[in-house]
Amino acid sequence: MTTPFHQPVDAAEVPRFAGHSTFMRLPAVADATGLDIALVGIPWDGGTTNRAGARHGPREVRNQSSLMRRVHHVTLTEPFSLANVADVGDLSVNPIDLLDGLKRIETGMRAIVDAGAIPLSVGGDHLTTLPVMRAVAAGGPVGMIHFDAHSDTNDTYFGGNPYTHGTPFRRAIEEGLLDPKRTVQIGIRGSIYATDEHDWARAQGIRVIYMEECTRRGIADVMAEARGIAGDGRTYVSFDIDCIDPSMAPGTGTPEIGGFTTREAQALVRELAGVRIVGADVVEVAPPFDVAGMTALAGATILFELLCVIAEGVAARR
Ligand code: MN
Ligand code: MN
Repeated sequence: MTTPFHQPVDAAEVPRFAGHSTFMRLPAVADATGLDIALVGIPWDGGTTNRAGARHGPREVRNQSSLMRRVHHVTLTEPFSLANVADVGDLSVNPIDLLDGLKRIETGMRAIVDAGAIPLSVGGDHLTTLPVMRAVAAGGPVGMIHFDAHSDTNDTYFGGNPYTHGTPFRRAIEEGLLDPKRTVQIGIRGSIYATDEHDWARAQGIRVIYMEECTRRGIADVMAEARGIAGDGRTYVSFDIDCIDPSMAPGTGTPEIGGFTTREAQALVRELAGVRIVGADVVEVAPPFDVAGMTALAGATILFELLCVIAEGVAARR
């Protein structure tokens, strides 16, 4: 298919391991003007409570994303023909000042949203999703389909600090960015701090689906419920790489055993077809804890899966 849109570098002309590293080997562009979908890095992990390193995620995911090809092998989606996509670089961040870091991420993301592009970002720890939502949900609250081992709806840490990667979705609800009744969390598991840890989320109306329920019901059934919860409205998709089992994605800050396989993770994302996605992210890839780049490769591949469903949506609404 011939289109006027940006195209990846042809691997038959320039090998995958050569040239500048960008997401999917797309052109690096200065801003999101004219793009349908902006691939963007957020190299910031100032909200991490355990092992740090997700600040290095975007660079390694770019590197592994050189392995992505043009066509989805199951759906035959050609995302680069359906939508104009490019790499707009990394947002400005501040590694030594949390509040300024959040402000910079919001400002950078607002420029992408104002340009009319759908942001598809790579973190960064999960607190980065809060300033992203401040930009994406500026016109009204969004729903969310959230893949994670953790609910990330805790209140405060370390003497009342409201901003960590364990709190973004409580803050997003408090700020009116996230509609809890259109929010579903999938793959939640692991030990918790208190018996009532997920009660606040449920009381707001969030549907919390533990990993055990996913195993019992199967992916298609769980995702049919998720699509029903999101409905027809504007929906954000957040993919924390720790929803995947650490045997397949060890490079992350807060690993939890008993997770999805990479194959299940791909199936989950494919089931997003038809959801009105207004922004999405892959977060918590921490290369310092990775083995042979496998977590970054998982992140890059999930990024491609997300790109395919978002591009199909762009084309359907064009
Ligand atoms: Mn998370
Ligand atoms: Mn998590």
